[in-house]
Amino acid sequence: MLGAPLAPFRNASILAVAAHPDDIESWCAGTLAVAIDAGATVRLLLVTSGDKGSRDPQATPQAVAAMREAEATEAGRRLGLAEVAFLRYPDGEVEDTRELRSALVASIRRWRPEVVFTHDPVHPYPRYTSHRDHRIVGRAVLDAIYPLARDGLSFPELRATGLAPHAVGAVWLFASEQPNRWVDISAGFERKLAARLAHVSQTSDPAALRHSWRQRATGIGAQAGLPLAEAFAVVELD
Ligand SMILES: [Zn+2]
Repeated sequence: MLGAPLAPFRNASILAVAAHPDDIESWCAGTLAVAIDAGATVRLLLVTSGDKGSRDPQATPQAVAAMREAEATEAGRRLGLAEVAFLRYPDGEVEDTRELRSALVASIRRWRPEVVFTHDPVHPYPRYTSHRDHRIVGRAVLDAIYPLARDGLSFPELRATGLAPHAVGAVWLFASEQPNRWVDISAGFERKLAARLAHVSQTSDPAALRHSWRQRATGIGAQAGLPLAEAFAVVELD
């Protein structure tokens, strides 16, 4: 389906789960901005704080994480996110553990999103060199959505905290080799860029980034007859 209607986003609760602080800007921030315009409440859960994301040999993981959390919080403010939360797993070392799945289930049951955005773990882009954290986070999020967050007997310890089971309606997988939905992000493109540029520590040449990101969004849009677009593999769970 080309040029997705905004109906799924209208006044929806949306949760984006990403491995690293600047992942959503690369893949879905334009769509999130458009969703916010349609009345959606969007929250972001970051599994790592990107603590390996520095080429400074003097940098410590703790200092890099603190800086990148501040940048992600500012990026979220620019996009209009309701909340940016951090699980603080070590960058590059995310494993698909019960502890991670429990943390994801707790977040899904707390925020009760109708739509979840995360990495495509089944057909990740780029095919052979996708980041390991992206694949593991995407897989763990899909498993947390179905069946773990939905089934009340999963993670019974969460019941004691008052978190009731929750069924997510759809998952929008980004960074996918096999997209089936394109979103016109013309109205959200400048906010996507502004959010990405809030990640100052990851930006050596803002002008070049602006140029290459417009080219990329134009190229994705050309696949669907849209001016500027992001693409997703959408999985409906209803
Ligand atoms: Zn990443």
